[in-house]
Amino acid sequence: MNLIFEKSVKGRRSCILPKCDVEPVALPENLRRETAPRLPEMSETDVSRHYTELNKQVHGVNCGFYPLGSCTMKYNPRIDEEAAAMEGFTNVHPLAPKSTVRGSLEVLDTLRADLCEITGMDGMTFQPAAGAHGEFTGVLLIKQYHDSRNDTKRCKIIVPDSAHGTNPATAAMCGYQVVNIPSAPNGCVDLEALKSVLGDDVAGLMLTNPNTVGIFDENILEITKLVHEAGGLCYYDGANLNAIMGVVRPGDMGFDCVHLNLHKTFATPHGGGGPGAGAVGCKEFLKPFLPHSAMMEMPGRIQVRAFMGNFLVCVRALAYVMTLGREGIPEASTNAVLNANYLMSRIKGTFTPAFDRICMHEFVLDLSQYEKETGVSALDVAKSLIDWGMHPPTMYFPLIVHEALMLEPTETESIETLDWAADVFRKLYELGRTDPETMHGAPHHTPIGRPDEVKAARSPIVRYDFA
Ligand SMILES: *Cc1c(COP(=O)(O)O)cnc(C)c1O
Repeated sequence: MNLIFEKSVKGRRSCILPKCDVEPVALPENLRRETAPRLPEMSETDVSRHYTELNKQVHGVNCGFYPLGSCTMKYNPRIDEEAAAMEGFTNVHPLAPKSTVRGSLEVLDTLRADLCEITGMDGMTFQPAAGAHGEFTGVLLIKQYHDSRNDTKRCKIIVPDSAHGTNPATAAMCGYQVVNIPSAPNGCVDLEALKSVLGDDVAGLMLTNPNTVGIFDENILEITKLVHEAGGLCYYDGANLNAIMGVVRPGDMGFDCVHLNLHKTFATPHGGGGPGAGAVGCKEFLKPFLPHSAMMEMPGRIQVRAFMGNFLVCVRALAYVMTLGREGIPEASTNAVLNANYLMSRIKGTFTPAFDRICMHEFVLDLSQYEKETGVSALDVAKSLIDWGMHPPTMYFPLIVHEALMLEPTETESIETLDWAADVFRKLYELGRTDPETMHGAPHHTPIGRPDEVKAARSPIVRYDFA
């Protein structure tokens, strides 16, 4: 496909400006450009076709199944977009006097109360702009808490080996030493391993439950108790609340602090690089350390972002929570868990689940045996799915499973879609046994086949060379 600059034809226009009805004023010489800007010149029809063509080359939730594990690529109700697009919200200025933005403040207060109820927390900030940013903020709360008690020898944060990569990165960025503990064979925290690293130098533990292999840790109360007994605090990575929202609460599991990705579970589209919100909730005793916002004058507190964070993401989240309500929220979680278990049990018998037990909102396939037998890797299967119109699952994560494919179907998929997906997996399973070569070369029906992924991520060419 040609770039828009290559389609440009000199002198072609797509807009007709009204006649100027004021006296023209020349810009001062020093403010004028030396050369005219190099803008593409096209008709409106061709601009529209160009972007529609580009749009067709992208796979989104609106195009088809998108089971990207640990990302919650689910359908976001349009009503939440409509709420966030209301002018009263989009035109609000962060420096507007409080008395003129009562409605917007009420949105934040109501959402805070609802999400505190859902997580079992007492206070919450919406400043952080993403999940990782929320983790950073949450671990700083833990740090400030220990500092405030002059408990300064706590220099370690414990992170299980199944953790999302942002967890150890966060702990390190906050100046902590990261202590990795191995998982037990069932994918859960190994209690003995945990006990062996606990001591008066531990600031806290970061945990996801259900964890990244989609398993709810049955020892969670014991785990948080052990950490507390050692004087540490417990941080809950709630980036993905799809499995437990309205069913169990991190606060009741013994966690002191939690972040939520409003751009995963709470109706803001995720994955397009747009604005997000990593809301951070905490128990009463950590509230004094929450970031200060420009609207609440509280000197001495950390501030992790300007003003109130990405406000429109909060509007979507509130619209989502209010439309689902007390019955709808647990129902969404229950359906997310049901869909994941349904798809896992339909795929079983072909590709092998890494942990053969009831899963939560996602599950992991282990293709290492299949790869040994056929030479077809998890990457080959993922690439082949693209030819069938399915977005690949998350690959090679979590690191504790080799040849991993991690699927999260979400609650917004129908049984027909799940049946279709299971059939596609079965077809590929058989294709790998009869014709592995075809799979090594997949995808065959896309504009680009297999780019060098590291190079594409590390040194992308995003400038057009006019020469
Ligand atoms: C997505 C995710 C994160 C990071 O969230 P970002 O908004 O991408 O920074 C952290 N932990 C888990 C478990 C996640 O799934």
